[in-house]
Amino acid sequence: MKEYFPILSTQVNGSPLLYYDNAATLQMAAPVQETVAEHYRTCNGNVHRSSHAMARSTEERMEAARETVRAFLGAEHPEEILFTSGTTQSINLLARIYEDQLLHPGDEIVVTALEHNSNFLPWLEVCRRTGAVLRVVPLIPEGDLDLDAYAQLLTDRTRLVCMTWVSNAIGTVNPVERMTALAHQAGAKVLVDGAQAVLHRSVDVARLGCDYFSFSGHKLGTLTGIGVLYGRQELLDNLHPPFFGGGMISTLEGLHPNYAPLPYRFEAGTPNYVGAISLGAAIDFLNRFGIQALAARAETVLNGIQSIVLAHGGSTVGNPQIRAGVLSVLFPGVHPYDLACALDQFGVAVRAGHHCASYALAQLDISETLRISPAFYNEPEELPQFDQALERSLRLLRG
Ligand code: PLP
Repeated sequence: MKEYFPILSTQVNGSPLLYYDNAATLQMAAPVQETVAEHYRTCNGNVHRSSHAMARSTEERMEAARETVRAFLGAEHPEEILFTSGTTQSINLLARIYEDQLLHPGDEIVVTALEHNSNFLPWLEVCRRTGAVLRVVPLIPEGDLDLDAYAQLLTDRTRLVCMTWVSNAIGTVNPVERMTALAHQAGAKVLVDGAQAVLHRSVDVARLGCDYFSFSGHKLGTLTGIGVLYGRQELLDNLHPPFFGGGMISTLEGLHPNYAPLPYRFEAGTPNYVGAISLGAAIDFLNRFGIQALAARAETVLNGIQSIVLAHGGSTVGNPQIRAGVLSVLFPGVHPYDLACALDQFGVAVRAGHHCASYALAQLDISETLRISPAFYNEPEELPQFDQALERSLRLLRG
């Protein structure tokens, strides 16, 4: 697998790079890099504007990528796939729609305590602006959601439930199918934040039953600045676009714009078409192996890392029923930032901090953790280097 990722042969501070920060961003496979380079070498033009060969060919590639994303998500129609700049923009786009078109004072939005700030702050702000009320599903100490409390929070005022599938801070895999069914029983719509899930779970939006689904390309190894908001067609059909500009009208009759059909009316301005093409290429690459097989590879390494952490006296933050992708850890007497810096000296890339999920960590009475997130291209053969790096780092920091 590593042969596809030349960056993984890099030496850092004299040691082979062990890249365990994949929850932040995944490295780009060589075939994806080549797709991007080849695009700029042979075929570049703005989409949905010009009729020359370069533009037409770019447009075809972008629309082929949309179809690839449709299949990847199990969506029914390519028109349900809106290209955005990433999860953050996807959620803000939906939040703007809710603010302008769907919420009234006293309506309720439910988010979970596990949300990344991208799926927390937009809803907090929307509630502030509209007089809607934000309800937060609490955590139990193991790092799972309190599902009894969730059921209690759903009322006939709940308009939308926003939940991450996989927590970026502690790795909890939420029972999104069950939670979606409960939300629908209460008459609410559901947004699933799939930013961390897409690399570790096969997505099927029909099976999940969700109404909206967001993710970022770079978590799958694309260019940055590309992401997706999936929305069910019958919902999107009835929504007014929140952003305005080039490429999103069919005609302008005097002062009356006739908005373009889906998905274009939600993609104002020049889209990141090369990003979209890189997303198509990244999904094609991942599909060669299958997401489930790739997730199993990452899980093997994650389990090995967990054993090493425990053997060195560390503890895991949360002990959720199902975990994917991420292990957050603490070592007594050692600050996570110091440990991340020390590990870097031995070539190990991990992240320390609150991981943009301060609410979740506060619920567990923690402010920062060391987060270790291997991916499918990491190998059990790396673990002795990790073990040694951890031992040396702890020795260094503890004097
Ligand atoms: N949601 C989750 C669960 C994430 O892990 C992240 C990024 O780490 C985001 C949302 C935000 O993604 P982006 O910064 O690519 O918009």
